[in-house]
Amino acid sequence: MIAVAMFAPMGVQAQSTRTIDVTITTKDINDAQKVTNYLCHLAPTRSSNGSQRAAAPACDVHSSALPTLAPTGGASSPPFFHPADMTYNGGPVVQSAQFTNFYLNSTCTPKQTCCGNPEGFMPDYFASEFIHINDQYVNATANGRYTLNRTTVSLTGTLPHTMQVSDTQAAVIAGVRALFPGGGGGGYNQVYDLFLPLGQDTCQSNGGCYSPDVPSTFTFCAYHSSMNAPDAMGATIHVLYTVMPYQRVPGCQVTNSPYPNGQLADSTNSVLSHEIEELISDPDGNAWWESSHSALHGSESGDICAGEAQKFNLNDKLYDIQLNYDNASHSCASKSSYPSPKCIVQLNKTSFVNNDQVIASVLQVVNPASTPVAAAYNLWIDIPGYEPFPFARGGSDGSVTFAAGTANYGPLTLFTVSSGLPRGNYNFGCRLDDPVTGATQGQTVVPFTIN
Ligand SMILES: [Zn+2]
Repeated sequence: MIAVAMFAPMGVQAQSTRTIDVTITTKDINDAQKVTNYLCHLAPTRSSNGSQRAAAPACDVHSSALPTLAPTGGASSPPFFHPADMTYNGGPVVQSAQFTNFYLNSTCTPKQTCCGNPEGFMPDYFASEFIHINDQYVNATANGRYTLNRTTVSLTGTLPHTMQVSDTQAAVIAGVRALFPGGGGGGYNQVYDLFLPLGQDTCQSNGGCYSPDVPSTFTFCAYHSSMNAPDAMGATIHVLYTVMPYQRVPGCQVTNSPYPNGQLADSTNSVLSHEIEELISDPDGNAWWESSHSALHGSESGDICAGEAQKFNLNDKLYDIQLNYDNASHSCASKSSYPSPKCIVQLNKTSFVNNDQVIASVLQVVNPASTPVAAAYNLWIDIPGYEPFPFARGGSDGSVTFAAGTANYGPLTLFTVSSGLPRGNYNFGCRLDDPVTGATQGQTVVPFTIN
């Protein structure tokens, strides 16, 4: 029995290590009135009888209308293809971040169980191939860029049945101040997820709401936001956050039973992953979104794929969550097909004799992605009986990037065959490595002989 326990996967044991209890104060509520630059992007409710379109609030900068979504069940098994890729509009993205969860007025023990198991889901999500779909949008490929803070915040406050925007802002401000009592906590490497309890409604300024008990105003399931707000010392910080109401309600919940983690947990996981991936690729509403296709205008990556959820593994554990849009494959996907850069090499001949020049007549780096990618390059020559000769190398510090498309470095003369060189089988190699992880991204080895 001891041996079994020793070999239990680490993820099974993952638990919050600390909870900070925070009461939302009058000062937090008053300071929410000082918020500026408030932006939001909503995940609309899904209806079973067709697509839904609702007016977007002013905080959603993309569009005068929310995207039209496929009806429940209308998006069949992956990959479902859509030709309308997202485009980059120049704004900031989230390359790496720590996520901290705020549980508002949770009556459960532990606090997260009122909304499922986000503390278990997020580490699996962050360790998955699925999260790497975002690599192409943020121009980074390393593992472990997104982490879950093992300190959570339990927020308590007397709030109206329907929280207005300023109420949710006050809750986020209270949590950030508790985590950073000396000030700070903003920026593009900190994200906060505010989980609301069962029965807690919330509205946007235009009257659209999360309000399952008031169907006429019920238009969204969750959203992600950014705002400029005062920190614990009164300085202005830029805060990125999601607002996650209770998701096991018709219009938001997953519906394709059986649910590997239960309907509550998978419903939360599905919408949470949607919000996180959009917050990563479009935190301020001015980075990656769909602007060319009329029916999808204003969509972010999660919106395009917000049909029925799919069952797939994250970090070797089965989940039932929606897919994310992958520009590289032009489809909703469960793992990245973000292509790696590769070397293309051709030599002027395959065999050489004394006084011949060995020339790389073609030497190219092809980056098939739509954005620049950093890579360490290594060119070498294998000589019979000797260690590989390093011809050229660089970029291991991340300082070398290759633009989208093909870069030409040839023709390049490697050397002239002299009588002192050994005869036999040689190679000319070109390899590109991820500068952070060291993982080989593309390697090409071209053999030749010297006679
Ligand atoms: Zn969305």
